[in-house]
Amino acid sequence: MSAIEPILKRNDFPAIRRAPLRTLQVNLGYICNQTCFHCHVNAGPNRKEIMNRETVDELLRFIDRSPVETLDLTGGAPEMNPHFRYLVQVARERGITVMDRCNLTILEQPGYEDLGNFLADHQVQVVASLPCYMEDNVNSQRGDGVFQASIAGLRRLNALGYGREGSGLSLSLVYNPLGPTLPPSQQELELAYKEHLGREFGVVFNDLFTIANMPINRFAKTLAKQGRHGAYMQLLRDAHRDENLEAVMCRSLVSVDWRGYVYDCDFNQMLHMPLGAGPASGTHIRDLQPASLDGAAISVADHCFGCTAGQGSSCGGALGGD
Ligand code: SF4
Ligand code: SF4
Repeated sequence: MSAIEPILKRNDFPAIRRAPLRTLQVNLGYICNQTCFHCHVNAGPNRKEIMNRETVDELLRFIDRSPVETLDLTGGAPEMNPHFRYLVQVARERGITVMDRCNLTILEQPGYEDLGNFLADHQVQVVASLPCYMEDNVNSQRGDGVFQASIAGLRRLNALGYGREGSGLSLSLVYNPLGPTLPPSQQELELAYKEHLGREFGVVFNDLFTIANMPINRFAKTLAKQGRHGAYMQLLRDAHRDENLEAVMCRSLVSVDWRGYVYDCDFNQMLHMPLGAGPASGTHIRDLQPASLDGAAISVADHCFGCTAGQGSSCGGALGGD
């Protein structure tokens, strides 16, 4: 038994229930051009799990019968799925807001030179990870050369209008701490990022989201090996705030894995925790009725303290005030 399991099994996270569904978050597969230390999906270039066209069409049918307003595409590098552009195109034609969780370096990979233009042409919102504005820190977390490639990707997006006032092309950056600590104030860090990236690289962006590292998968295993997993869980638990429960992303989102199975969030997906509103054997998107989600219980466990610690944390950054 690993050092992680007993802590996850304590499960004294408060019960939470669903609010109206607004967002469909889709993991298009685990293939990625990077292998980051904190990656909670253990993505990398050799992963073979990729959503197929049939499942992509099931997603579109679900969108048609549900109140979903936003399609949030993640991975791996979602753009490496061969059906990415088809899905984006059809969703945009139906008036759905599309977010691409982009690692920035993909924009600089051979074969993806026109990706930025595609995203701009379809007014896709770009949400990009940049865990620090200092080169050494980014490279230590995400790999050698990642910082320079990320800056090149940001400049490419800026040249297309992303992050610029009045362009309608939204560019948000995501910060997560380098180790087992809580993120600092989102507002203060956003100012520091804007000042540094503007001065040093001429890069602009709209918002900075700060998120805590979730104590699951690769990050949790690394902490366990270092004997720091228990202390990090205690830090998250001690910093829990009940007021953050209102805004956790699972209340208005469902998360779909590359096979089409549905979960209460991306983190539960990685832990194979089935949707609270469905059977323990799992629920496929083709069988999901939106009405069955209304007010349904959400599957929670102790990793959920990563969402409610301190200023709170979701795929949209801090949840409330500082
Ligand atoms: S870029 Fe994102 S998906 Fe890819 S390895 Fe890093 S954290 Fe994981
Ligand atoms: S980990 Fe998932 S289920 Fe738990 S609080 Fe966060 S978003 Fe909700």
